[in-house]
Amino acid sequence: MENAFNVLLKCTPEEKKHFVERAMQEAQNSNFPTALEIVTNGLDAHPASEGLLFLKAYFGYKVADTMSNELSSYPRIIEPIGNGGLMIDGAMTAQMLNRFQDIVNTLSEAEEAINELLQVNPKSKEVAEFKGYIDQKRQHLDQESESIRATFNKSPQLAGNFCMGCQRTISYDTQKVVFRRSADSRLEAWHLGCFQSTAKN
Ligand SMILES: [Zn+2]
Repeated sequence: MENAFNVLLKCTPEEKKHFVERAMQEAQNSNFPTALEIVTNGLDAHPASEGLLFLKAYFGYKVADTMSNELSSYPRIIEPIGNGGLMIDGAMTAQMLNRFQDIVNTLSEAEEAINELLQVNPKSKEVAEFKGYIDQKRQHLDQESESIRATFNKSPQLAGNFCMGCQRTISYDTQKVVFRRSADSRLEAWHLGCFQSTAKN
């Protein structure tokens, strides 16, 4: 990466002085969103700058990478809670899916920048390689969020919209919901509170 970095960082002294150096300083403090903002502003003034295009893609990738690392420190959205129940935190799931979407959007912008760079450097191995990194990360995130989304969307269809305990409606994308297999192996849904008070009795 270090090598590719130097190859791809083609800038005029002016671009370097006004944007690149400032952005790199932010990046050194792991402040990638600000670094990204600086080079994006730079591109408004110098739209054809290859160095700034590369940095936009690079910092975009770093922003997305940081965001996806933060996702792994989220509380678990699906958790076994005993008595055969599996708890899904609906609000957290919805929030997580939004977060996935933010990351994918950030990567798409990085990809636009790298595509522009590839048009001017169709034979550059470094550019192609970097585009590969971004593509791979985006595919991975797409798959991960798709599988959460599928589970999330399928559950109400399988378990219905009513709580087995209080018989009231369940709001899957805001409430904590417990799923459990009944004795005849149908999928039941409960409000977390209703499930817990039944389990106690
Ligand atoms: Zn209930």
